[in-house]
Amino acid sequence: MNIVETPPKMLAPDLLGRFVAIVGEKNAITDRDAQAPYLTEPRDMFRGTSPVVLRPGSVAEVAAILKLATESATAIVPQGGNTGLVGGQIPQHGEIVLALNRLDRVREVDPVSNTMTCEAGVTLLRAREAAAEVDRLYPQLLPSEGSCTIGGNLSTNAGGTAALAYGIARSHALGIEVVLPDGRVLNALNKLKKDNTGYDLRDLFIGAEGTLGVITAAVLRLVPRPRSIETAFVGVPSAHAALDLFGLANERATGTVTSFELMLRLGIELVLRHGAGCRDLLPQPHPWYVLIELSSQARSGLRAVLEEILAEGLERRLVQDATIAESLDQTKMFWRVREMFGEVQRHEGGSIKHDVSVPVAAVPDFIAEADAAVAKLIPAARPLSFGHLGDGNIHYNVAQPVGADKAEFLSHWNEVNAAVFAVVAKHGGSISAEHGIGVMKRDLLPKVKDPVAYDLMRTLKRALDPQGILNPGKVL
Ligand code: ZN
Repeated sequence: MNIVETPPKMLAPDLLGRFVAIVGEKNAITDRDAQAPYLTEPRDMFRGTSPVVLRPGSVAEVAAILKLATESATAIVPQGGNTGLVGGQIPQHGEIVLALNRLDRVREVDPVSNTMTCEAGVTLLRAREAAAEVDRLYPQLLPSEGSCTIGGNLSTNAGGTAALAYGIARSHALGIEVVLPDGRVLNALNKLKKDNTGYDLRDLFIGAEGTLGVITAAVLRLVPRPRSIETAFVGVPSAHAALDLFGLANERATGTVTSFELMLRLGIELVLRHGAGCRDLLPQPHPWYVLIELSSQARSGLRAVLEEILAEGLERRLVQDATIAESLDQTKMFWRVREMFGEVQRHEGGSIKHDVSVPVAAVPDFIAEADAAVAKLIPAARPLSFGHLGDGNIHYNVAQPVGADKAEFLSHWNEVNAAVFAVVAKHGGSISAEHGIGVMKRDLLPKVKDPVAYDLMRTLKRALDPQGILNPGKVL
């Protein structure tokens, strides 16, 4: 089934020497201990081995590496900040790792055109800082911003908590520069909003998870920096109430709702138990919570809008209690509680994870039906739903029963996946909303993707990477 699997192979010493010579010995890591950060990933679900980690310092070096890789049929795994959650960046079959962190120049910031040109290894945090320096916003928001990189964000088409207002990574890139498997450099670094000159090649490489080419730079779209931001942490009685509150917020604050995050009480309890420095933000526990953020170009008036939404929500029993951030520190604390959700689950043993999306209107029903399906399989399992209600992307994770055996629980991974994905399919959703396919969902893809679309993906892969050197065994 897998058309691009490359068997593990040893690199002949002279070939290894040719790869090393491209980047210089200093930037070719062969020592196993020094390689370690490139071979495991945040959740430690995927591990790899590699004869060498190459750290090119220029686009020309990337091109030379890929040209040699194609000539010698040597498999390459491109890697950005190594924060991916589906194993796409890990050399599982002994491939060479192409680490792009040294391509870290912000080539240009153009506040008049509202664009910024960043190389692949620029971290998201630095890109956001560079935008802020010219009073602009780069509106990608991810908890891993200090480590994740622009190249990785685009290759995986990352989502995050501001996608509701500003779109996912794909919508931030106006142009890209890509090194093809044969070593040619595709220069599509245009700044144009309008460019109707044939096939859109840019979108082919964004979200391809490094299987078609290596993104080395991108022209990113900037937006004006908001003049006011208001953030509320809200206790709500149910996911249905949260959805109705989202509708209300959109009616009253059209165009300013930048984040609308849903959280189950269980997650708050785990944050209180395991998240250092986090406290319960409301005096009483509530079944569900939402974090609402509004932002606007207007300097005043936004607080009143938020208060109006919450007051009407209280009246309509959509809101049980709420607190509005009074300072930047409080805003950060609200976000910290939300962002700790990803981190704290590991302290509770095994967690079977799903990054899914359904139409926004179907989110509450999806959660209820998935909970019922999981309960049928493992009655004491603890579903933990949270995520980006505003764009229909829910992280539907299932924590093991208290005191259960972790390995035994995790042995039900595929079963639980199948039950949850059946509910996703029923609602016309997606099995991967923002994390990608990688290796984790590779075998699922042909089961859920339209067969013609899947066949076209394979055709494109063969056309662009006939030797199958780029990220083999990922996505397809
Ligand atoms: Zn997310």
